[in-house]
Amino acid sequence: MDLSRFPRRRYTPFATPIEPMPRFSAALAASCPGGVGPEVWVKRDDQLGLFPGGNKTRKLEFLVADALAQGCDTLVTVGAPQSNHCRITLSAAVKEGLKCRFVIEERVPGTYDLNASGNQFMFRLMGVESQRAVPAGSDLKAALQEELDALAAQGRKGYAIPTGGSNAIGGLGYVACAQEMQQQWFDMGLRFDEVVVGSGSSGTHGGLVAGFLGNRIDVPVVGVGVSRDPADQAPVVHREAQAVCDLLGLNLQVPVEAVQCVGGYWQPKYSVPNARMVEAVQLLARTEGILLDPVYTGKIMAGLVGLARAGRWKAGQRVLFLHTGGLPSLHAYESIVLGDGAGLAP
Ligand SMILES: *Cc1c(COP(=O)(O)O)cnc(C)c1O
Repeated sequence: MDLSRFPRRRYTPFATPIEPMPRFSAALAASCPGGVGPEVWVKRDDQLGLFPGGNKTRKLEFLVADALAQGCDTLVTVGAPQSNHCRITLSAAVKEGLKCRFVIEERVPGTYDLNASGNQFMFRLMGVESQRAVPAGSDLKAALQEELDALAAQGRKGYAIPTGGSNAIGGLGYVACAQEMQQQWFDMGLRFDEVVVGSGSSGTHGGLVAGFLGNRIDVPVVGVGVSRDPADQAPVVHREAQAVCDLLGLNLQVPVEAVQCVGGYWQPKYSVPNARMVEAVQLLARTEGILLDPVYTGKIMAGLVGLARAGRWKAGQRVLFLHTGGLPSLHAYESIVLGDGAGLAP
């Protein structure tokens, strides 16, 4: 499949590493029925470019290139207060000499605090032009449009990026990732039985599904929901995968079975900690020295751990965990991830 016809800015000058995790796999197997579990590997998308990189970097390579091609001078996007997407979008804007504005959706009341550590500190340090908070459930599309209108009234041109950068153009970033992995697996002589990814605004999961279909990569992808259970999440991912396939001109209908979602690991609420997340963050940190974040990758890894303990994979099967980044928010939850999970939802 030829992605070169789409404009792209390159923010990571290398393929992110794929690494085995033998100590983590052994510890996980010891907690699985019969003491056997899968061989777990990791794709280090936490090492992508921009500040500090994560899955949003890949989507922004195509989104920002599109903004520049359209002659826009300002990136406008939306996200939660600890949004990795907002922070990485700002980093891309700074790098490209563009301005950047946010609409912050306060999904958990009381979490928008201009003096908070983590994102607010970094927003100010990198120089966001403006930000305004709206309550959970607001019409975000309309809020973005208001920002574009305000810019137009000043003779400027904004480029609106939806939540998580997840539209057809953003999804191309994970089509590129699918192609990158295909080449790495070939070079490394590796086969995987399943790929485990996070599934939120769905550009990552949907883009990979489109990329796997388009490149005829016959390895299942399972998405662990970070904010929705499968009945609600699967249609979102399916729409995204179809939109990406359509943009690519693949002329195919995404089969419903190509979109596999797992739920039950994000509760009690998006971004609110639970005990299984704490266990997963500690287990990976203490076996491989790799850190996960509490909002996304900690819960996604908790999903992988739960699936392994439920016997999803046989001994010797190989599973690839996509580490999508998100580390800065870890610092907003230090005492929780060092604790024993007592008092948290399971
Ligand atoms: C945004 C995000 C996800 C979810 O990816 P989507 O493409 O929104 O589904 C997973 N992990 C991290 C660290 C993220 O920032």
